[in-house]
Amino acid sequence: MDKQKIKARIDELRALIEKANHDYYDLHQPTVGDRDYDMWEQELLKLEEENPEFADASSPVQNVAGGLLDGFAKVTHDPPMQSLDKTHAKGELAEFDAFVRKTVEGFTYLVEPKVDGVSLSLRYSGGRLVRAATRGNGLVGDDITANALTIKSIPKTLPKGAPRELEVRGEAYMTRDGFAALNERQEAAGLEMFANPRNACAGSLKQLDSRVTAERPLDVVIYNAGGVGCDGFASHSEMIEAFKSWGFPVAPWSKFCKTIEEVFAAIDELQTLRHTFRFEIDGAVVKIDERRFYPVLGATAHGPRWARAYKYAPERAETIVESITVQVGRTGILTPVAELKPVPLAGSVIARATLHNADQIARQDIRVGDHVWLVKAGDVIPAIDSSIPEKRTGAEKVFRMPTACPVCGGAVARLEGEVATRCVNPACPAQLCRRLEHFASRNALDLKALGGKLADIFVEKGVVKDPLDLFTLDYDALASLNIGDESAPRRFGLNAQNLRQAVSDAKSLPLERWLFAVGIPQVGVTVAKDIAAEHEKFSDLKDSPVLRNVIENDAKKGKERKILAIKVEAAKAVLGFFDSAYGAAFLDRMLSLGIDPARGERAAVATEGPLAGAGCVLTGTLSRPRGEYAALIEAAGGIVQSAVTSKTKYLIAGANVGATKTEKARKLGTEVIDEAKLLEMLGAAGGSAPAPEASPAPETKPTLPVQGELF
Ligand code: AMP
Ligand code: ZN
Repeated sequence: MDKQKIKARIDELRALIEKANHDYYDLHQPTVGDRDYDMWEQELLKLEEENPEFADASSPVQNVAGGLLDGFAKVTHDPPMQSLDKTHAKGELAEFDAFVRKTVEGFTYLVEPKVDGVSLSLRYSGGRLVRAATRGNGLVGDDITANALTIKSIPKTLPKGAPRELEVRGEAYMTRDGFAALNERQEAAGLEMFANPRNACAGSLKQLDSRVTAERPLDVVIYNAGGVGCDGFASHSEMIEAFKSWGFPVAPWSKFCKTIEEVFAAIDELQTLRHTFRFEIDGAVVKIDERRFYPVLGATAHGPRWARAYKYAPERAETIVESITVQVGRTGILTPVAELKPVPLAGSVIARATLHNADQIARQDIRVGDHVWLVKAGDVIPAIDSSIPEKRTGAEKVFRMPTACPVCGGAVARLEGEVATRCVNPACPAQLCRRLEHFASRNALDLKALGGKLADIFVEKGVVKDPLDLFTLDYDALASLNIGDESAPRRFGLNAQNLRQAVSDAKSLPLERWLFAVGIPQVGVTVAKDIAAEHEKFSDLKDSPVLRNVIENDAKKGKERKILAIKVEAAKAVLGFFDSAYGAAFLDRMLSLGIDPARGERAAVATEGPLAGAGCVLTGTLSRPRGEYAALIEAAGGIVQSAVTSKTKYLIAGANVGATKTEKARKLGTEVIDEAKLLEMLGAAGGSAPAPEASPAPETKPTLPVQGELF
């Protein structure tokens, strides 16, 4: 290929990827499959590497690479990035209205959501993104360009018709779903969890290594003019429309109002909609739409006089910590959990809240017997916001992390660099129960007859001491196992044969499923797939040169480093597993059982099934993890979307879904169904739903505590 052709292909690939990103992240309407996307990315990376003269920092594939920065350069804001005057009272808004009416005439209000994230400025030069900065102290902020380049929805280049020199301002945020998933990953990895999406967003933007930022589910909303290129608009709303046409994400809702009464109504309406946005909002912003009035109204040191924020009272509830129990997870992590006096909050009754770890409890000074304020982090996960020390009687007790495992009595340890305390006894029954449950779960070996409750019974009765024991059990004898209790005995019965069959089928499952099933920390479904793609068979994972390479490669700094799909932490965890006495014995036993799973073919996307081609959106609090439902829907041929569009066939509404959301869906022709209906439809796919003929019923439904999504 001659240079001209190469350049043309590079441009073409960049445009394709940028469009795919835009369709996916802004329009929530993916237009290409992962496979094509990955191929374009690989091809572009290769062309850019081989033809450095065409390198461009804003290329969509250069964004993830980022290097280690030495800290952040400082950026001066001109004009300064101001805050907003805020109020919690409608009476004060009426005063604001009186002031505006006294000063100017013939204006319109615009009410917008007040996005609860981190404000930032984006500067374009020659039509390309050249700098992103945080607000900092308003006059000077941090240069976070490298990190902003990893946020897919931020345009890296501006289309024709947009000013070549431009600065826009808005808010970065972490999506609600992304926040919940991130915290799950952090917890599984024994790392600090984030208190709310805003903190998680701020923490993600402040990463010195932008590869970390790249993994965080960040997005932006643009709602303000910057100092360059925004002068030509008569009104704020016209400017926002222009931003939108230039590819910037803008708020999905806003309302024009003539009177302050209409403003109050809009604020109330927005409050009912707040849970339907992908971002959290903490209030409404009331702005004058006509920009010619801005110089007349002026500004204070704090903020403009043509805008006022109205903050909603946070939804919170007071309750009492009755006790703090400690749960032991699959990887031995001890998680303290507050057992609360049940209290209603934002649509559900809350009886427990995770306290994450000992550091967190100490920092918040939460004691057994304390009155506490309960909030919902990211509107989903109940969390203790603070204790109320004024209400202490003196009888409250300071919590201490147990010095022995509450289940096996074995030693606990806190590994360096981790906030988590772990039970280090590999034979700990609590860990074994959860490991066994994980081993049998849908994305692992998919042993439907073996759920969480049965895992507990198997471990308690000594049927299984290690997940691999499933391959050597006497299933005939197992039929007579009592899985009820003494007063109401119940035989395992026919399910013993079902389990035998499922276990025997599992032997031929591909490497990725087995790798996930082992339950190595850091190794989730996706990581397992990435690692499996680089290995022929399970036994190759031990001492794998590929994984060693990942670790060595990471030690290299800057340009020399290649972008790898496999994460260092995951590579270390896998090698560490096979180096451990338990891991080595596990592999030996698998080989002696004649099991050495081979890499599978990449699964084809289902085009048939009861949901073939149907767009599906999951919303509200569901009784199973979203990922699980997403996998079930995809296996049934459905397409999981993140927001309702005209192409959405089903809105699956869990608990706490506002009527406005379901109404909107109905208007677009989307059918609103509940979880039970979804499961019924999936059941028709054959095999993905609990087998109805099983008798006595095995543990098919997940046994979830009151707030199942917590654990
Ligand atoms: P606060 O962060 O509570 O001081 O509130 C002021 C901040 O609200 C501003 O600096 C912006 O970052 C943010 N904000 C969020 N949404 C909007 C919006 N629609 N218009 C203006 N500012 C907003
Ligand atoms: Zn233990």
